Amino acid sequence: ALDPRRAKVLVVGLGVTGLSVAKYLSKLGFNFAAVDSRDNPPSLKEFTGQLPDVPVFTGKFSEEAFQVATHLVVSPGVALTEPAIAQAIANGSVLVSDIDLFACSTHAPIVAITGSNGKSTVTTMLGEMAKTSGKLVGVGGNLGTAALELLDTPADLFVLELSSFQLERTTVLNAAVATVLNISADHLDRHRDVEEYAAVKQRIFDGNGVMVINADDPRVNAMRRKGRRTYAYSIKEAADFALAKIKGVECLVYGGKKLMALSELPLEGRHNAANALAALALGTAVGLNPEAMCDALRRFRGLPHRMQKVAKIDEVTWINDSKATNIGACVAALQGYERKVILLAGGDAKGADMRELLPAVQEKVKSIVLMGKDADLIEQALGGCVPVLRAENMREAVRLAAGQAQRGDTVLLSPACASLDQYKNYQERGEVFAKAVLELKA
Ligand code: ADP
Repeated sequence: ALDPRRAKVLVVGLGVTGLSVAKYLSKLGFNFAAVDSRDNPPSLKEFTGQLPDVPVFTGKFSEEAFQVATHLVVSPGVALTEPAIAQAIANGSVLVSDIDLFACSTHAPIVAITGSNGKSTVTTMLGEMAKTSGKLVGVGGNLGTAALELLDTPADLFVLELSSFQLERTTVLNAAVATVLNISADHLDRHRDVEEYAAVKQRIFDGNGVMVINADDPRVNAMRRKGRRTYAYSIKEAADFALAKIKGVECLVYGGKKLMALSELPLEGRHNAANALAALALGTAVGLNPEAMCDALRRFRGLPHRMQKVAKIDEVTWINDSKATNIGACVAALQGYERKVILLAGGDAKGADMRELLPAVQEKVKSIVLMGKDADLIEQALGGCVPVLRAENMREAVRLAAGQAQRGDTVLLSPACASLDQYKNYQERGEVFAKAVLELKA
């Protein structure tokens, strides 16, 4: 265990997580220091302002700081393969995560959510469900507020979105209920392969809580563990939480009984039915009220940049799914359409094999406009299965798409790539898209 009098903790990385860890350690009277390899890390000013007595090393990883550390708290943005970190761990420093510290500091049940796609959507849905059920709920983690900051506000329940980088360095979470929503190739620039990535994600189930399993995803389905209480959900077949026709109406059901009609869900895209079922299963596991959960779903309008309708111009619908930063998200978006769409894609492929886009593109795409760093790679991977147009920037891409579109068509920005080659983040990419679309009206 961590003893404040004896441990020498080193906080590695001075961003949002690092700052939350430092404030937490300081409150508990720990002896600690902080390092960041950047000259001017994002939270440096706040850090030195709020914690003036804590030693901070920036510009490179100070060897000395690592040598004396008994414990390392490494932020998710920093790779564990960094030589200074790997060396310290080999020398016996213990790795703990902010999530470990969080889990040790509360008795309230924790709902833990990970997956390649849908984490933020499901996390937010569940937060709304808990509020509607009359609970005090803290929502955060990889999304919004850092986990440790949530401890400042009283809560009956915590809902945490966790990334693979957070899970990779977490050992004592033991969530009351946990889920892996899906596994698709992502972050292969930082994980060795998809098997390693899946192995890291399934650490979310360590402990003895309820497991929520997406039966439609073979890699997740294989994560079931003997003797554990499990809720399965599916949008394709019968499961604890599933879709079923009741009196001719397609409904979300639990144990075969109607919860609500699918048509009451305001979100675009079939994958959002899966997200709703996941949230219902998680909420049921922590005893939320079924009626309240359904009410929250009926009111849930979705998060920006996820399948968000921007405009309908001359009978053409424009959808912003800029948050689709990997293949899985783009494929899920495409699969929700009955008619073929015009797809805008491209950016930084992060080492993924773009041939995985092929079946969905063949089936659901009329023509594709490519842009960004890996446009060539995608064009090659698609091997001429649909007409390809190339654009230098978003404005040009939108103009080209408008030229292709006919009445009744949908134009979908769902890039299957990260945005960082051309934009500050996916939000900026989505905003530039929306602006270019609205300019078509003028
Ligand atoms: P995350 O937090 O995991 O990135 P988001 O809820 O922000 O997830 O959604 C990210 C992207 O994935 C969006 O493009 C969204 O449309 C898509 N998406 C959402 N839910 C799913 C799902 N269950 N399966 C596949 N793609 C999804």
